[in-house]
Amino acid sequence: MEFQRPEFVTHLRCLLCGTTVEYGNVFTCPTCGVDGILDVQYNYDAVSNRRSAISGRPLNHWRYRELLPVSSDSPLPFLHIGWTPVYDVPRLAEVLGLSKLFLKDDGRNPTNSFKDRASSVGVIKAQEFGFTTIACASTGNAASSLAGLSAAAGLRSFIFVPQRAPEPKITQLLIFGATVIRVQGTYEQAFDLCRDACELFGWYNRNSGTNPYLVEGKKTAGLEIGEQFGAAIPDWAVVSVGDGCTISGIGKGLQEMKRLGFINRVPRLLGVQAEGSRPLLDAFFSGKDLLPSPSNTIADSIAVGTPRNWRRAIQQITMSGGTMIAVSDDEILDAMRLTARLGGVFGEPAGVAGVAGLKKAVAAGIVKPDASAVAVITGNGLKDIASAKKAVGQTIDIEPSIEVLAKRLREQHLVKGSI
Ligand SMILES: *Cc1c(COP(=O)(O)O)cnc(C)c1O
Repeated sequence: MEFQRPEFVTHLRCLLCGTTVEYGNVFTCPTCGVDGILDVQYNYDAVSNRRSAISGRPLNHWRYRELLPVSSDSPLPFLHIGWTPVYDVPRLAEVLGLSKLFLKDDGRNPTNSFKDRASSVGVIKAQEFGFTTIACASTGNAASSLAGLSAAAGLRSFIFVPQRAPEPKITQLLIFGATVIRVQGTYEQAFDLCRDACELFGWYNRNSGTNPYLVEGKKTAGLEIGEQFGAAIPDWAVVSVGDGCTISGIGKGLQEMKRLGFINRVPRLLGVQAEGSRPLLDAFFSGKDLLPSPSNTIADSIAVGTPRNWRRAIQQITMSGGTMIAVSDDEILDAMRLTARLGGVFGEPAGVAGVAGLKKAVAAGIVKPDASAVAVITGNGLKDIASAKKAVGQTIDIEPSIEVLAKRLREQHLVKGSI
């Protein structure tokens, strides 16, 4: 079938073998047969003439529509996506041993995670390609995001989740009206089942590991970082890594902002994985093909044993002069407290894993103390209360009496005075 090509998109290109592929509903490179490696190419000369138009638009991620693979006459979801705030957090920087640290809070997106950037493009592509039903497999956030964006767009959604998906995320799916299929198995098994179901039932597959248009949505965080910082672009951009689409997208967005002249250099990317789920990091350092690994970590959103976008992620990290680091669950819980208490942002475990990795990278001398960094907080902490509880202390439970209160606070040295 022929589809109308968005105005500024020229074609797709395989990042592995270089094959040029015509724009369309494709997932796999026809030459090398690899999934998730087709990259959307744009007419950047035409886009550069639009720089001032871009700068003048409303502050959400559609301001970059020349750099998104959507047709100019496609209706956009009405929910506010992107242009998430950037905070300068000196007290957190100091504890990490860094001269300058910023948090970009992507938990502020409509369904409270970074995934809304991709899902919002996904629902448009589904409609452009003539689908009325959309499906995805997800560790949680891509699912709740797709459910929310589908609800806003009036599409049906079928969501495949692995058993470990936290209850708040499941509840979010159900409230948005998605049909939720909880697969007794891992994320990988849910992923394969979803792919097969899409083929069988003719649904649109939102899986960002293989769908070339979804990564483009994730790119807008990189575009925003470029525009929000401009000449003050930090030395490092830090983000947690599961499938690898988020970091690939951010890397591509930053490269494009350099190309368009918004920034004069691209930050080095620091990709952070959990020690219990680090196949992409192992592939990065070994220089060999990725080997599937166990995926045991409290950070469910990055518990991915078979990342789909590892090649693209490694290419972007390498191109930026960046590196990867792994953190333990305890380090993630520590980062959860620090980010909330010193940065004012409550992130879920995968949301703050970047901060944990940055802390470790500074301690290890990988990131120099005089460097500046922006860490993207990819998901809100209320997404996973059970994990958050592991990071915090107890409440002080008392009867409503000022004497009892005074006694307890003195006992715990929270106020001055004798007991
Ligand atoms: C999906 C997700 C990530 C990682 O993105 P990948 O594309 O899988 O690497 C990180 N944090 C949160 C909160 C996520 O939902």
